[in-house]
Amino acid sequence: MATSPTELLATDALFTEEDLEISRTVRRYVERDVAPHIAQWYEDGTIPARELARGLGSLGVLGMHLDGYGCAGTSATAYGLACLELEAADSGLRSLVSVQGSLAMFAIHHWGSEEQKQEWLPGMAAGEKIGCFGLTEPDYGSNPAGMRTRARKDGDDWILTGSKMWITNGSVADVAVVWAQTGEQGDGRGIRGFVVPTDTPGFSAPAIKHKMSLRASVTSELVLDEVRLPGSAALPGAQGLRGPLSCLNEARFGIVFGALGAARDCLETAIAYAGDREIFGRPLGGFQLTQAKFADMTLELDKGLLLAAHLGGLKDRGLLTPAQISAGKLNNVRESIEIARTCRSVLGAAGITLEFPVIRHAANLESVLTYEGTSEVHQLVIGQAVTGFAAYR
Ligand code: FAD
Repeated sequence: MATSPTELLATDALFTEEDLEISRTVRRYVERDVAPHIAQWYEDGTIPARELARGLGSLGVLGMHLDGYGCAGTSATAYGLACLELEAADSGLRSLVSVQGSLAMFAIHHWGSEEQKQEWLPGMAAGEKIGCFGLTEPDYGSNPAGMRTRARKDGDDWILTGSKMWITNGSVADVAVVWAQTGEQGDGRGIRGFVVPTDTPGFSAPAIKHKMSLRASVTSELVLDEVRLPGSAALPGAQGLRGPLSCLNEARFGIVFGALGAARDCLETAIAYAGDREIFGRPLGGFQLTQAKFADMTLELDKGLLLAAHLGGLKDRGLLTPAQISAGKLNNVRESIEIARTCRSVLGAAGITLEFPVIRHAANLESVLTYEGTSEVHQLVIGQAVTGFAAYR
């Protein structure tokens, strides 16, 4: 009788029954509404974002760890477990939810005015309105302080000019949280956030095509051509890079759990495949080399869960630091992509097709390794934490 890889260390014992019930609910939704279609969406390079947003809104996962304004107000750990179940289906689905809840909604919830919260959050929690988050630019990814997008005052109004790149949900969004340099102070301190309805004249969001990763996710450029906004469009609380970085920390936390969902799906698939596949007259899963792979992958998956549960507990107690989030994101994404690649090897040639989820997860995790701070950036954050020296530049 075989044990599931996530049961080996009984990691469920780390979570409350309430949090586990939420994760089971998300898993049921994903298995019913997403899993049967995801390979086709991936192959077609599309995702029914609006329909999914409504479904995810009814489920209560959009901005679920935020309080009020139609949000569920769950623990951060429950949010992490939901991300894990979403990413077990596809990193694109989890990206839709991360960007909506942790980036766009969190920015408005944490830094917005009461009017901005009332106007946008209930509709976003329900999945009626989709949000995106524009920080990265063509020439400024890991170094957002250098951004060229400008916001200038014209009377009471703000006028935004510039462009953003690689923006998840961009072409389907109703609202964009856009970060721009106001020039009020130098060295990134003049950066402010703006709540931009996407039907504002001068705003456009062409989709980026030909991606070989996160194909079931909308990724776009944002073009801001003299976009005129009222003074009330600025997020009043956010000044400088700590505004966008606070949002990124929320999304990175979700990825600490989420990436493990992709790894779990790969490992479960590979173990099942190796049980059926006969090589030299007996099941592949009975060979020592294959078992060594499964043993090492199970350890890394379960260690990742221990780390995620620990960081979730710290976050729920208000103790989680950015360097700890970097440690979780770096480790769990790096190990998950390694697990996906090794599982692909177990499937042999069958591993390169979309009949199995493994190559899809492996390709998706390439994006996850890069966005929300590249692995190298997280190494630098941890390096700074343990040496005291900032080595970014
Ligand atoms: P670069 O910053 O050019 O980095 C190139 C390489 O240099 C990397 O390996 C990097 O680690 C390395 N590097 C950088 N700095 C250093 C250093 N100091 N020392 C050594 N090496 C270094 N952005 C958004 O704002 N909103 C979104 O919704 C969003 N969604 C995305 C969706 C997808 C599918 C992808 C792929 C990206 C998305 N991004 C989004 C952008 C993402 O955050 C950036 O791609 C990321 O920050 C890296 O920036 P870059 O691609 O410009 O790489």
